Amino acid sequence: MTAYPVGIDLGTTHSAVAWIDAAGRTAMIPNADGNILTPSVVLFDDAGIVVGREALKAVAASSGRVARWVKRDMGSPSYSQPIGGHYMPPEAIQACILSQLRADVERALGKSYHAVITVPAFFDEPRRRATAEAAAMAGLPILDIVNEPTAAVLAFGEQLGYLTSPGLAAGPLKLLVYDLGGGTFDVTVAELRPGQVRALATDGDSMLGGYDWDRRLVDLAAEAFQKQFGADPRQDTTSLHQLHIEAEQAKLALSARAKAVIRVVHTGRVLEVHVARQQFEERTADLLYRTSVTTRQVLSAAGLTFKDIQRVLLVGGSTRMPMVRKMLADLAGKEPHGEVNPDEAVARGAALYASHLLAKSQPPAQPTGRLPPTAAVNQRPSPQLQVTNVSAHSLGIEGYNVKQDRRGNTILIPRNSALPVSVSRKFITRKIGQKSIVVQVLEGESSRPEECTRVGRMVIRNLPPGLAAGTPVKVTYEYGSNGRLSVKADVSGVDRSMKLEFERTGERTAQQIAAWRQVLASEGSFSRLEPMIRSDQEAQRAKAGISNEEVVALLDAPS
Ligand code: ADP
Ligand code: MG
Repeated sequence: MTAYPVGIDLGTTHSAVAWIDAAGRTAMIPNADGNILTPSVVLFDDAGIVVGREALKAVAASSGRVARWVKRDMGSPSYSQPIGGHYMPPEAIQACILSQLRADVERALGKSYHAVITVPAFFDEPRRRATAEAAAMAGLPILDIVNEPTAAVLAFGEQLGYLTSPGLAAGPLKLLVYDLGGGTFDVTVAELRPGQVRALATDGDSMLGGYDWDRRLVDLAAEAFQKQFGADPRQDTTSLHQLHIEAEQAKLALSARAKAVIRVVHTGRVLEVHVARQQFEERTADLLYRTSVTTRQVLSAAGLTFKDIQRVLLVGGSTRMPMVRKMLADLAGKEPHGEVNPDEAVARGAALYASHLLAKSQPPAQPTGRLPPTAAVNQRPSPQLQVTNVSAHSLGIEGYNVKQDRRGNTILIPRNSALPVSVSRKFITRKIGQKSIVVQVLEGESSRPEECTRVGRMVIRNLPPGLAAGTPVKVTYEYGSNGRLSVKADVSGVDRSMKLEFERTGERTAQQIAAWRQVLASEGSFSRLEPMIRSDQEAQRAKAGISNEEVVALLDAPS
């Protein structure tokens, strides 16, 4: 039996799922409510876990039990708000959303499928690790993780016939993908050729999205209320949640109309605040400006100008704001394109990527003469499909800089390198008789380790006694096309395999993940999760403590 390729866009605000249908084209899988978009909102009710529309409805009434915008906190130890009084790991909350999407997939396709999940291109290694763990906690069969803009380009490529018809005489296209969602912003320059998608440069902001535009309207309305009544609705959680919902509604209205009204209800008093589009645009001009700065930076990182860009692709619900389209049209000197639905492009592209991975991993099916050919086998896009991503952040190693007498970051893989990439570099030990070596992997652009993310480390222990200072150590970083890293180190003259496990910061064991999976799949009230949350916190804290006892010396980068 053939496994269906499935693509999952696990968004900050909405999630969506696509597959490859019987005609070999991408198609969306609706949720149980019949909608294409599932709000990425989870309610931890006494009756159980509720995901999507119903959870969103409960935001104002049960704010201490509802989690949303969790994707913004991926990579952190816990979700920013307590749920039922507990700080939950973001992975576990994302796993609830993924479990719901899994149910939707299985209702449509049965159990035989393999999925690709998307992440923003700028997601660093800890956030990718967290996403993979969330999928494992949800029991989803995952082929890989792919970058959202790459997926969007694939969907666009499908639309224009770049993927399925190798004979099509289509020239190379350079594209700029501008993705402004609810909580994240991502911009990527890519090149599309028949059967080929190549990212050239990427950047983004994990803390910028429609949410921030909403917040400006919340502030505007709250200030008006305060002026009138002397009380601030933002001080009360329920009033604030209700106001946020009103503010978002007004924002949506302002995309279609010149004026909107925000109704503020607080301490039994009501105020209707009128907002004009122009006023809204003024209050958020700095946010829009931030996206334009990033857009220009990405272009120059790719060594291009807008003259070289044939198409501007809009992805994400917030690109429906007229201010976004206008800014891009001014910047690019051409209107952005709307060929692919901005809500669906990422999930569709992920399904195409899943299909490409399945085609690579399975030999082409032999016709049996009995069964009708299944879509999943025969209608895949060209197996020659080539997808090249770039790294969004530089990867380096924490070393000791002798000249400056301080720790520094030596970059091995610079940002915007084409993936996969493998880089080796020689370092030397620093002290005589050094007993251990720490390969501390850093992600970030700064030369100061404390300004970078400590992604993980590999510790080589029990070196032979009396090892000379200056013993060469070859460190190799292998960065996969999915943005996942593996690390190797060889110590010269030491006859031992040093392909030690790379310990990711905060990575959970298979047992921890299985325990989460079990407890999340069980029925019952929130209290059943409490022991799991506690034991997870303890395990994570214990891991954070492995640090310094073995760190007798650092590697010394030769100048
Ligand atoms: P994500 O990828 O973060 O899940 P989406 O692409 O689903 O996000 O976009 C959600 C955001 O788009 C929300 O902030 C929502 O308010 C905003 N949005 C959706 N439609 C419109 C519209 N017509 N005008 C302005 N903003 C919109
Ligand atoms: Mg999105």
